[in-house]
Amino acid sequence: MKEACLTTPEIEKRLREAGVNATAQRIALCRFVLCDADHPTVEQIKEWADANFPKISLATVYNTMHTLEEARLVRSFQFPHCDKVIYDNTLEDHYHLCDRKSGKIIDIPLEAVQFNQSVLGEYQIDSADVVFFGEQT
Ligand SMILES: [Zn+2]
Repeated sequence: MKEACLTTPEIEKRLREAGVNATAQRIALCRFVLCDADHPTVEQIKEWADANFPKISLATVYNTMHTLEEARLVRSFQFPHCDKVIYDNTLEDHYHLCDRKSGKIIDIPLEAVQFNQSVLGEYQIDSADVVFFGEQT
């Protein structure tokens, strides 16, 4: 189970704090995104929702994800040259490794990557996006 995984009452509380009704649909969506899914796109979330809640609309999925992001339960990001938004339930800063074969996205801790500070010159860097691409050997 992921560290970010919350219990149903915790999810309800967070949703209420964000000013949203904690409907069964929203709670289930939260559980999927926070606990079961791994860097899902909105399409993957919708696919899951369709299988579990046939009447959930794409708008509800988008709205719920927007709410979760505002409630700081998930972050979203886009890879360069890719228009797909990916949701991430790992809230600490980290980098990613994208498996070219499976499309799986793996979290890489910041400490795993070292930069030569001198190439950054006099810039104080406040954020960085690093994506590694590769295949398992
Ligand atoms: Zn991640």
